[in-house]
Amino acid sequence: MSFKKTLRLAAGMIAIAVVASGCGGGDDKTATENAADGKLTIGIKYDQPGLGLRNKDGSFSGFDVDVATYVADKLGVKAEDITFKEAPSAQRETLIENGQVDFIAATYSITDKRKEKVDFAGPYYITGQSLLVRSDNTDINGAESLSGNKKLCSVKGSTPAQNIKDQYAKDVQLQEYDTYSLCVEALKAGAVDALTTDDVILRGFAAQNPGALKVVGEPFTVEKYGIGVKKGDTESRDKINDAIQDMITSGAWAAALEKNFGETTGFQVPAAPEIDRY
Ligand code: GLU
Repeated sequence: MSFKKTLRLAAGMIAIAVVASGCGGGDDKTATENAADGKLTIGIKYDQPGLGLRNKDGSFSGFDVDVATYVADKLGVKAEDITFKEAPSAQRETLIENGQVDFIAATYSITDKRKEKVDFAGPYYITGQSLLVRSDNTDINGAESLSGNKKLCSVKGSTPAQNIKDQYAKDVQLQEYDTYSLCVEALKAGAVDALTTDDVILRGFAAQNPGALKVVGEPFTVEKYGIGVKKGDTESRDKINDAIQDMITSGAWAAALEKNFGETTGFQVPAAPEIDRY
């Protein structure tokens, strides 16, 4: 190959790399700045029915999607100008730190450990860790029954998995998968005895598998869902807090819960949470 051709090839490859990284949204702009440019990249879950779901036709649905869309609208970005990006539990802090997303609304519990890396608006929903088992299971009926070397599935980088390691490690065998839908497959196939994560996530899976899976016991932790933003970006956090407050006050918050979970067994729209403007 001639020197000129090599140069042209190299330039082409650099151009492709620049375009590719631009697609990922990996920029230094804050959520507020990107919103001012009329676009936002938002991290959600793709596999959690009722919360964050990528549908077969490529559309997105769920309470997290509705909250994200409402917040985006308040920041001046229309639904069609949102790019949703999958944010698996273990990757959320990294996605925010690297600027690959502007913010994350993905069943993301506010914790002090995570606050070392990211900031949170909210909470916009409060739930707690619970257990999902096959409908014919009779020996697991709450956190107290986690003994006898049960096989329990949860997801890497999630607070419920960490809680099991901290509190129940000697009683159960924890298997950590990348997503909750993989845990559901393992549960249905009999490879694990139970799936543990937030009650509202489990109710969504139970509703998707009527007669096959059931939620048991009472929630045994408190999980406060926040919207994760870049650490130190107080401007965006304040604006997102205002948007969440507006969603609650206007009735859109309760309507979104009703829309996504109204038909779900054992679900009631709770009182709205108090926003923590720390
Ligand atoms: N809310 C918990 C967490 O943030 C569990 C749900 C999830 O993994 O997304 O870790």
